[in-house]
Amino acid sequence: MPAISSDALVLRSHKMGETSKIVVLLTRERGKVRAVARGARGPRSRYQSALEPLSEVRVGLYGRQGADLYRLGECELLGSAFPVSAQSLESALALAYAAELLDAFALEGEAEDPVYRLALAVVRAAEAGTQAANLSRYLEAWLLKLHGLYPPLDRCAACQGPLTAGGLSYHAPARGFVCPTCGPASGPRLPSSARSFLESVFKLPPASAPALPEEARGLESFHEMLITEHLERPLRSSRVLRDVARSQPR
Ligand SMILES: [Zn+2]
Repeated sequence: MPAISSDALVLRSHKMGETSKIVVLLTRERGKVRAVARGARGPRSRYQSALEPLSEVRVGLYGRQGADLYRLGECELLGSAFPVSAQSLESALALAYAAELLDAFALEGEAEDPVYRLALAVVRAAEAGTQAANLSRYLEAWLLKLHGLYPPLDRCAACQGPLTAGGLSYHAPARGFVCPTCGPASGPRLPSSARSFLESVFKLPPASAPALPEEARGLESFHEMLITEHLERPLRSSRVLRDVARSQPR
């Protein structure tokens, strides 16, 4: 009997020894876990493409409950993210970024069903052709919100009064958006288009969220600031993504 039987998304894997891999999985039942996949690098590996990032798998994990490292047994591929990665460099990078974000936010050994459902919805929306930048902002906003890190869009973080319609002014000392009376805010300021995008993000599934308006692109650096503050380190792929976006003509 496996210690854990669960649906899971592959977050990453790296080589171990001559023939094996260590796989980091976001499991539905137990949150983030690590497992050794013996023989995963052999030419006749039974895992084949199942261990690619963001593959959706059903796994049997063996070992002591609560172990640091399980042994991967059964691994049935339910859905591969490979066709999305193959669409374009932009989609491949967005998926790599999504996997890194999930890896950074997911709790070890602790199930978080909303995070699992979010991850799955984002992978499905990517398969359905949702634009990469939209998906990245969607995933960032929700991961921050689910971990209690997204400031409310409708209440002043200083006086708790309502924030009237329009743009939002972030004030770092208050860790949230503030009303004009509690300002001047330290910034950044988000335009009203960014606010309506966020309101849709928190209401709609990722495939239905509206396209990110050009003038709301500042959300990327705003989210990056919140994420870096929380993780106390920058993410690797966000920098790669920015470099690629800069090198491509708009
Ligand atoms: Zn206020």
